[in-house]
Amino acid sequence: AQAEIGLIGLGTMGAALALNIAEKGFPIAVWNRTTEVTHRFAAQAGDLAPRVIPTDSLRALVQAITPPRAIILMVPAGQAVDDQLQALAPLLDADDLVIDAGNADFHDTNRRAAAGLPFRFLGMGVSGGEEGARHGPAIMGGGDAADWDRVAHVMTAISAKADDGTPCAARMGDAGAGHFVKMVHNGIEYADMQMIAEAYGLMRDGLTLEAPAISDIFADWNRGTLSSYLIEISAKVTAARDPHTGAAMPDVILDRAGQKGTGRWTAIEAQHLSAPIPVIEAAVMARNVSARLDERQAGQARFGAAPGAVDLTPDDLEQALIAGKILCYAQGFTMIAGASERFGWTLDLPEIARVWRAGCIIRSTMLNDMADALADDPARNLIMAPFFADLIEGALPGLRRVVSQGIAAGHALPALASGLMWFDMMRTARGTANMIQAQRDFFGAHGFQRLDGIDDPHGPWGSAT
Ligand code: NDP
Repeated sequence: AQAEIGLIGLGTMGAALALNIAEKGFPIAVWNRTTEVTHRFAAQAGDLAPRVIPTDSLRALVQAITPPRAIILMVPAGQAVDDQLQALAPLLDADDLVIDAGNADFHDTNRRAAAGLPFRFLGMGVSGGEEGARHGPAIMGGGDAADWDRVAHVMTAISAKADDGTPCAARMGDAGAGHFVKMVHNGIEYADMQMIAEAYGLMRDGLTLEAPAISDIFADWNRGTLSSYLIEISAKVTAARDPHTGAAMPDVILDRAGQKGTGRWTAIEAQHLSAPIPVIEAAVMARNVSARLDERQAGQARFGAAPGAVDLTPDDLEQALIAGKILCYAQGFTMIAGASERFGWTLDLPEIARVWRAGCIIRSTMLNDMADALADDPARNLIMAPFFADLIEGALPGLRRVVSQGIAAGHALPALASGLMWFDMMRTARGTANMIQAQRDFFGAHGFQRLDGIDDPHGPWGSAT
């Protein structure tokens, strides 16, 4: 046995992760369901080949790893993971460790951790796509601290590093905590992307800018407060030309967005937690609407609703995105705090912000400041942290202008608008739920609290009807 660690599943992510691990100096044994993939992988490992040990069976994989063993699973979430865990059971010792590094539903990870597997088990969220897996992903671990500690040196070595050199790899909490945090990361990713798409739509249809001009604006934003991977690639995709037609790339792409489900899971889980995350929910909704192309075409034929011109500047849009982003993250972190309480995870919010600073899809400059603000007071809503309160105050007029102008001109701005709606609710001490309570008491005698302290929880509805 010469390998320090093993890996199962040499698909896009597994292959990239295995090369990353080998490159950082850890001999790695690999196995793939389709054997020829294993051999092709080993043959293409180049300089790293001496640290890659291809194996043709699970038994050979297990034998190639120095005990107590650690094996990373990088197969599709769901049944494939359960099948592999079952196949490994008779081959592993009680102190061997299996790490599910796919995009598991955290409920599944909780279930597996509680199921009494005959070996140690960690759930681990890995973000950054293929490029991240190869050169430095953000890693969110979940499980017993002692199990994480055993592999932490490998995970920190292969992970992305923030500007201050901190590795973007950490144990988030017990069992499904890592996969939960990765899920919310993906929900925020949906929301960030949707808000950028809404700004793009306003520039394309409201300001009638061509893609190259839009690209310059994104590139400009990427030098400021919005500096982030997603803004950076938005500048790149709007600058790109289609090799077939010479047209701008976004102009040849069908407006129907795919999804693998983690955004939807975030929205569903938020409902279970009573956590308001309207920006993420709007982003999931927008992808679902985007999929209904036929209905949208029929809608346009019937209602002729092409969005019109808007009197906005790129600066307004930049301010709207700054405000929208803060509001969205404030919601996401509140949801994480709620889950931490519900599941008894003691999740460390500033640590989560720190892990997201590099390697993952939502990496951004702003996450540095979020990590600082959360470290300052993890229990405080991000919008109340002085740095972000000031930033919101400055950017809010832009967001309000963008949403009101955009909506008046017929632009669909679900994410930006629901961010603003949420904010307006959050800064209103006397809202309108008194009306809800009155109605609930009227039809269901649900009772209410009075403002004046008089002890009479019901209205005189009987005499009113
Ligand atoms: P791929 O489809 O590229 O690879 C899947 C791998 O799993 C292949 O090696 C395949 O083997 C193997 N596999 C599939 N089904 C089984 C099974 N029933 N038993 C054993 N092995 C199986 O997927 P990805 O690498 O993209 O994704 C892997 C995991 O990582 C998923 O959970 C995904 O959600 C997650 N992830 C993906 C990201 C991405 O950007 N792609 C980002 C972050 C996480 P075979 O060659 O035999 O088909």
